[in-house]
Amino acid sequence: MKTISIGIHNPCVPCSCACKYCLLQSCKEAEGIDYYRGKKLAERFIVWAKNKNITPLPFYCISYCAEYPQLSDNISFNKENGFLGANFLQCNGLKIRTLSETDQFIKNIKSAGIENIDTTFFGNPKYHDSFAAREGDYDFMLLLAKRAAALDLNCSPTVIVSRESLSMLDELFDTLESIPGIGRIYSFLPDYRGRGYLMEKARITVQDYEKLSDKIKKTFNISRYKTQKDWLSSGVLPEYTQRALTVTLRKDNIDQFENMSCDEIIAYVEKLDDDYYKAIPSINELAEIYGNKENEQLYRLRDLFWMWQKRYIHENHISIYDITDERYCNTIRS
Ligand code: SF4
Repeated sequence: MKTISIGIHNPCVPCSCACKYCLLQSCKEAEGIDYYRGKKLAERFIVWAKNKNITPLPFYCISYCAEYPQLSDNISFNKENGFLGANFLQCNGLKIRTLSETDQFIKNIKSAGIENIDTTFFGNPKYHDSFAAREGDYDFMLLLAKRAAALDLNCSPTVIVSRESLSMLDELFDTLESIPGIGRIYSFLPDYRGRGYLMEKARITVQDYEKLSDKIKKTFNISRYKTQKDWLSSGVLPEYTQRALTVTLRKDNIDQFENMSCDEIIAYVEKLDDDYYKAIPSINELAEIYGNKENEQLYRLRDLFWMWQKRYIHENHISIYDITDERYCNTIRS
């Protein structure tokens, strides 16, 4: 199993939302460590990777949102090391700002080097606010999108599509498309990760997708998704060959990590990953046990794998570190 990327993740900033599908399972509380303490470990990893010619370099990622005083330091750090966060910022979960505060925020991140932002929409204002667990979230996301576009910062809104939001989509798209200068809209189905399992019953079918207007369909990368039925009839499913590894820094592991070498930390997380996957059957065996050949809901293949793994672990009462839980050190295999 080849480790293809390494991230240092510090969930040190509380999000103002607690979205129903949140992959980090936000409860509006921070769980990480001091920003600079985490950065020091990330810098150690970068030196280590350069000495070993490891690419890409390990990145330093802050969650749950971008509401922290060291944001511009993080953007500069991303710039120095060529990371995605040098010019892209996810703007969900920020504290709600007035119009003038929003403009100031946009000017600040622009001058720090941000060129693209993303704001996420779930449906109409009422549904959106209840989904995000914050009153006023829809209006603020819309304000951010509008002011970003007006101030020449590219905002590409993301829309999460489920059976719960189908009837709201036409109006939502009309609203977003009416913003002068708005960037391209991207639509996604919820991941199974984190609290995504809560959206399973609302996962759309291929028939639901077909009924969407052409302009909404065009915002999906539909080649990623197939019905469970189609995945299962496509022949032998690809077994995992590689993993992206994330070292999540928390109060209960930082002392331990600071006393370990980078090689030791990576070996530690890789072992957690190996142990997890040793405890469950292969993808094709799981498909044999749990695959539903009649199911017409749309999935990315990895969501099906996550769903089957969780079911197997639950039904067989396996007690094991959950390497797919992004609140802790985790991996994503592919
Ligand atoms: S804004 Fe993002 S981090 Fe915050 S609760 Fe929603 S999905 Fe989770």
